[in-house]
Amino acid sequence: MAAAAGPEIERMIALLSKLPGLGPRSARRAALALLKRRDQMLVPLADALAEAARTVRVCSTCGALDTRDPCAICADPARDPALICVVEEVGGLWALERAAAFRGRYHVLGGLLSALDGRGPEALRVGELVARASDAAVREVILALPATVDGQTTAHYVADRLANAGVSVTSLARGVPVGGELDWLDDGTLTQALRARRPA
Ligand code: ZN
Repeated sequence: MAAAAGPEIERMIALLSKLPGLGPRSARRAALALLKRRDQMLVPLADALAEAARTVRVCSTCGALDTRDPCAICADPARDPALICVVEEVGGLWALERAAAFRGRYHVLGGLLSALDGRGPEALRVGELVARASDAAVREVILALPATVDGQTTAHYVADRLANAGVSVTSLARGVPVGGELDWLDDGTLTQALRARRPA
């Protein structure tokens, strides 16, 4: 199929269409919206992306994204060092922060175990978690993983690995639809799930 737009625009559309939730058709609409609003949208977005690419990095302690390492949460002395909340991805951390329900620290696994996708333990930041949990200051590790098969398989695996770390391992209570991800929960439900956590 001949491209209707020039190669620069086609490249922009091809990249946009790789974003979650955007197929080729919505990528085309997004590209058009950006190009039509050059000064209000296209240039500020390009600047923001370049700035993020230059400054944002992964926290070497918890795996969160921030412009500094350790991240603002790991570096915050007001955070309770006794609690570590384990999330699948940074989106889950953001959801818990939005709900303002948790005053401990986080650990981002970077995915879930998945037989289907061939993702094994070595692809996740579990060793780093075990090392952190073995610190005497840490008393509890809270698993905030999805109620899916992969989420629960991962939770069991992580709990096993933490068995000798001298911490109690708990899970979020679920007032949560099966397969529900933290991102989609309202703040009240998240706060409840955290308060009513139970031994993993
Ligand atoms: Zn951090």
